[in-house]
Parts: sequence; structure tokens; C-alpha cells
Amino acid sequence: MTSPETGTKRVLLAKPRGYCAGVDRAVEAVERALEKHGAPVYVRKQIVHNLHVVDTLEQRGAVFVDETDEVPEGALVVFSAHGVSPVVHEQAKERGLRTIDATCPLVTKVHHEAKRFAREDYDILLVGHHGHEEVEGTSGEAPEHIQLVETPEDVAAVTVRDPEKVIWLSQTTLSVDETLETVRALRERFPSLQNPPSDDICYATQNRQVAVKAMAPRCDLVLVVGSRNSSNSVRLVEVALQAGAGAAKLIDYAREIDDAWLRGVTTIGITSGASVPEVLVRGVLDHLAERGWGEVEEIETAQETLTFALPRELRPARSAR
Ligand code: SF4
Repeated sequence: MTSPETGTKRVLLAKPRGYCAGVDRAVEAVERALEKHGAPVYVRKQIVHNLHVVDTLEQRGAVFVDETDEVPEGALVVFSAHGVSPVVHEQAKERGLRTIDATCPLVTKVHHEAKRFAREDYDILLVGHHGHEEVEGTSGEAPEHIQLVETPEDVAAVTVRDPEKVIWLSQTTLSVDETLETVRALRERFPSLQNPPSDDICYATQNRQVAVKAMAPRCDLVLVVGSRNSSNSVRLVEVALQAGAGAAKLIDYAREIDDAWLRGVTTIGITSGASVPEVLVRGVLDHLAERGWGEVEEIETAQETLTFALPRELRPARSAR
């Protein structure tokens, strides 16, 4: 394989990449909780879907559990960025747990949409991946109104009570193009299908896909730094391939790069999922620089400035006036 541009080994580095505002807030929430309350701080599910982040927080005293019944009564538990269903809040209350909700505000927005359209008695078709924590949390807001639709092939099996009163919502971390295909298939069956009031696929997911699309046609290989259970990272591999990358691989760490992948390769694209700290990308850049890919060109397609305030429970108390 040779680069379409020059024969010089080079790296194209996608921007935006890595941490989004929701992940930054969730990780900081656990760090602040540890500082304020001391270890252990329990965290229901992985706070964000990244191995390195989870390992690092574990070393500092976070204890990751699958369900709230694994948390000792009265202890402090943080809910992850992916959100939880109302049942989980109730269970935590029953056990007298102190809670910090690190659900990303953009996931909370989808929960609000689900509640609103359930109240208005719509059938809600939720485009997303079966078993993903975010989908479980959103579905739990209105289980009797929400059906999950994963792919265009699922559409034939969907049944609704009133085809005039149907809306689609989605998981925040899907492929934009694949989601539109599923929605097209849904609209063929239900022409009155309503769109969500605003995009559910979040800005960070969209921006990372746009950047990788811009870069991929120039790349013999795209390396996506991210974990296997990170939906938006896995989507970046798919988007890179669809956009014309010669090959695309998902890695947690630089040490996973197989030298065989680099054989005959000139241009390597690098990006990272929304739950990936920049230190892991630096590790990949160093690894490649040692092997001759020292030239790095950043491909910037958007600037991100969004930040979210910490969860209420962790904000400094207002000083008395
Ligand atoms: Fe929030 Fe999007 Fe980041 Fe998920 S990927 S935490 S929805 S900003």
C-alpha cells in the first residue's frame, strides 16, 4: 500500500478526538467524590467505557459494581455517564445509598424526550444497540411505550398502535449514516414518523465521525484508540472503513499495535473515542514516531468548546449572603 499523496511516512491526527464534555464531567465527578468523601466510592457500571480510565480510578479507590445491590447500605454510589433508569434510582433509595448522578446531560435530554412523548401517548421507536447501558436507561423511562430498533432489518417486525403517532429517538453514540438508513426504513413503513425535537446523536459523536471521514480516504490504516465496549469508538472504526481507509483497527493501548499492520503502510490516521484520555493517543504517536512515522498533520474539522457543570451534589455550596 502506498499513500495517494507522497511516499513519505506520515500520521494524520483527527481533531476533534478523545474526551467529550460528558466524559470529562463524569470522570471528574468520581475524582472529586474520592477527594471529598475518601475511598471507597462505588460506581455503578464503568463510569465511561474505557479500560484505562476505569483502571486508574480503581487504583485511586473507586469500586466498580454492576448493580446497586452490591453497594453496602448507606454508601456513596456514582451513576455512570450512560444514565440509569428510574428503577435504579428507586433501588438506590430503598438501600439508603447516597448517590451522585454523572449521567451526561445529553443523555438526560433523551430521557426527557422519552418521558414527554410517553406522556403524550406516542409509540417511541428507539434506534440503538440491544444491551447497551444507555439504551437500558432510556427504555426504563417508559418501557410500555418504547421499542428498540437496531437495524433496517428490524423494521418489518415493528408494530405500533397508531401509525399517526410515532416518533423515533436514538442512542447518543450511533453512526449518523447507519441511523439515517434505519430511519428511512421506518419512514417507509410509517410516513407520519416524527423526528426527535433535536439531534439525539450527540455533538461529540458526530464531530468525531466527521473528522475521521475527512481523514480516512487519505489513510492506508486508521488506528482508533478506544475500548471494545465503547459504542462511539467502534463506530469510528466502521466509519473509517466506509469512508475509504485501507484498514482500520481499534486499540486500547499502543502496545497492541501489531508490526504486521504497518507493513507497506505510508499514511496512518489516528483518532480516539469520546471516552479516551489524550495520554493514550500520545502513547500511540510516540510508538509510531519510533518506527518512522514522526511527521504529524492535524486534520481539524470542528472546534469544541462545550463544558458541563459538575453534578449538583459536587458543586461548591453557595456562600451565605
Ligand atoms: Fe455525552 Fe456524547 Fe459524551 Fe456520551 S459521547 S458522554 S452523550 S457528550
